[in-house]
Parts: sequence; structure tokens; C-alpha cells
Amino acid sequence: MSSLGGVAGSTARPASYYGLGLTLGNAEVRLDELVGAYAAFARGGDWIRPTFLHGSSETRRLVSTRSAFWITDILSDAEAREYAFGRGGSLELPFPVAVKTGTSQAYHDNWTVGYSRNVTVGVWVGNFDRTPLRNSSGVTGAAPIFHAVMLAAERRATGTHVFSDATIAGASTDSSRREICVLSGLAANKWCPTRRLEWTATERAPLPCSWHQLTDEGLITIWPPEYRAWAAEHVPAKPMTINRPHVRASARTAKTLQIVSPADGSTYLIDPTLRREFQSLSLRAVTGSRGRIEWSVNGEPIGAADADAKVDWPLTPGKHRILARDGDGRTAESHVVVR
Ligand SMILES: [Zn+2]
Repeated sequence: MSSLGGVAGSTARPASYYGLGLTLGNAEVRLDELVGAYAAFARGGDWIRPTFLHGSSETRRLVSTRSAFWITDILSDAEAREYAFGRGGSLELPFPVAVKTGTSQAYHDNWTVGYSRNVTVGVWVGNFDRTPLRNSSGVTGAAPIFHAVMLAAERRATGTHVFSDATIAGASTDSSRREICVLSGLAANKWCPTRRLEWTATERAPLPCSWHQLTDEGLITIWPPEYRAWAAEHVPAKPMTINRPHVRASARTAKTLQIVSPADGSTYLIDPTLRREFQSLSLRAVTGSRGRIEWSVNGEPIGAADADAKVDWPLTPGKHRILARDGDGRTAESHVVVR
């Protein structure tokens, strides 16, 4: 929230002050700043400094119309929230609403902020002396208040009790709806079993799905190497579907050895609050070779495993060169930093 809060002016610290935690919301913002930021999405990306009295105010473009539209589309998707929050709760209203909840670390306070076509509402719940709340999160604390205030504000703004289901914002001209394969996220081909319409960038059509292919044996799912171990564990083969994690997975893996974990250039942080024996890194690689993969770190052998199985390595501070060697003598390297 630093860029948004920074616009509003109360937190002028650079992004480096907050570090990566910024993406999870460790920058402090005031309720009026947060509401101003969300109202900018409702206005298609234009931010207006909130004022407590009617009158002219500073205006600035915060994000593109397309970014604002996509964020609105995501935040107003009740189906996407269903997994975490269920359906029919405080976050659903009888008209389209884009909404976000938040709970601060250690339950100091919680938030719900959102907007309809007409109004933006933000709710903060907390103790003024910062003592933690008990049994209260964004969805149980602030959300019921948000629901009541949003309903009343929308009634006042529209002067009606008969609400419209018109969308909050029209699609930006540079967005196109395309049919997407739900599994791969690529453009659905004619065999993809589960598909849905999603907004995509008009100028950049997604590649056609390469995971689903119809063969003489029926529909097969060809998992990319980085997902094979996960798929073998989590996705049972359905009667009419043949999961083919190994065969023809891709021409490149038949001829090469590829480290899937850790990704080259990754940085890992040792968590001082966890016991060290629980902090290890899974080393995994994929190869077309049948033999075992041998692993070494900085030239020291640390173990061997079958292709697609993992070897655990305890995190040790420093710069490390992780090397895998397959049964055919091919090698692959990944460089990581542990702090
Ligand atoms: Zn597909």
C-alpha cells in the first residue's frame, strides 16, 4: 500500500524501507487513504484526494483503466471468494460490489473496504490502545458493519430500494474475453475438459493449451515437468482421462536435465522463530534419463533420488551452487542465496 498511501501523503517512506513485506501489506495506511485508493479503482484508475467537505480536490491517474477494471473484476467475483469465505455472507450484496478484507498481524485490527458503482465504503475495527482483538478477523469483525453501511449508502446514493445488477465498470477497450483452459490457464483447445471465460489483454492472445491432447487412447493430460510430482500426488486419473506424466512430457526434458526446485537465483531466509531442523529445501529435478539423480551442494555430495523424487537439504547461510547429475551424466545447476 506504500504507493497508494504515498499518493495520499502520510507515509512518504521508500519501498526499500518496507522490503518484500510491502506486498503483504506491512505499510501503515489511514482509513481515508485506503478508501481513496479503492475509490480510484471504482473510477477506472483516477485517484481523487478524499475531502470531508464538497469541493474541488487534487486528481491523479493511479493505475491504467485496464488495471482498475481487472482489479474490480477480481474483487467482485463472489465465486472466487467462495473457497475461503463461502457464499451468501456479509461480502455479498444485492448489487455488484468489489470488496477486500484484511486482518493485521496479531489481530490488532481488521478492515473491510469496497466499492459499488456509486459509493466506496471502508470500515476499520480495532482498539484505540492497540490491544489485540479477540476472535475477530476482517470477515467477522469489519465485514458485517461494511455490509450494513454499504447497503444504506447505496440506497441513499440511488434513491431506490430496487437495485441494479449493472456491472461496476465497463470493460476497458484493451481487454478481451477469451475462453481459457482452467487447468493450464492457456487458451482452451477443443479438447480441454474444463474451460471458462476470462479477461485477457487484447494485444496478447494466450497460447493454445498444450496440456490436453486427444490421442487414440482418449484424452490425455501432459503435465509440464515442474508440475509432474504435484500432479502424481494430487490428481487421480479419471476413467476417460490418461495422465501421462512421463511419456512424451516434452521433447526438451527427454534430452535435458532440468532443476525444478530451487529456481536459479532464489533467495531463502532462515526463520529465527522456527527450529532449524524444520527448515530445509527440497531439491527436485526432471530428466528423460532412467537412472537416479545425484545432488551436490558446493561440490559436496548430499544424496541421490529417483527422477521426480526429492532430496532434502538443510538451509545453511551463504551463497550455494546446487548441482544435479543424472544417470546419463548430464548436469544442471541452480544458484541460491540463504540468509
Ligand atoms: Zn487444456
